[in-house]
Amino acid sequence: MTAAPPPFVIALDGPAAAGKSSVGLGAARQLGLRYFDTGLLYRALTLLALARGIDTADSDALTALVGELHVEVDPVGRVWREGRDITDDLQAASVDRAVSAVSAHGAVRLALRPVQRGLIRSPGVVMAGRDIGTVIVPDAPLKIWLNASVAERARRRSAQTGAPFDQVLYGMRRRDQLDASREVAPMARAADAVVVDTDGLSPEAVIARIVSLAVQRGAQPVQ
Ligand code: C5P
Repeated sequence: MTAAPPPFVIALDGPAAAGKSSVGLGAARQLGLRYFDTGLLYRALTLLALARGIDTADSDALTALVGELHVEVDPVGRVWREGRDITDDLQAASVDRAVSAVSAHGAVRLALRPVQRGLIRSPGVVMAGRDIGTVIVPDAPLKIWLNASVAERARRRSAQTGAPFDQVLYGMRRRDQLDASREVAPMARAADAVVVDTDGLSPEAVIARIVSLAVQRGAQPVQ
């Protein structure tokens, strides 16, 4: 009897609004894999902390709260808590402002590690985040660093949410800076990641590139 192959993980890292969700979900569909954006776990924890009045500087209280997250993730990456789909609530401006402070705590990141790894099931998953290729799944067979200029990312997010461009640009620069400069697992490209710059590329073109790289490395496309 031959052993089942290990789940195929695509580590899809990069800054906010680089296109990880649309591209990740598209590639996952074509490859028959699950999709999950780990940013949603940090967002869910932040939402719960805000609801409970927990200070985003209180590492111990935030870390203890991970045990009460009890979120479920469906195959297309939507997040459910207590029977309710909370995915859209996780994009609230209050969460946007507080999430980088929550995710900067080393103990919080450590507590969320097994939760993220627990989402890896056969046949595999496209896992989006900031440290998937460097920390969460360092042996992933395919690592992508998805990037775009900050102006392009702010333009996309502003078109998506209707928020003013200047305000989005300011918030995005601030979050990039906080995520890249934190001491624990800063947002960083894995040395063996393939860099895909999405400025001027359609989502379809980026998806095709990722699918073709995944197939070269052993993933099976859906017929
Ligand atoms: O991807 P998204 O913008 O939703 O992520 C929200 C925040 O969660 C990021 O700004 C970052 O602070 C944190 N995050 C992280 N590590 C990940 C994914 C997200 O620190 N793997």
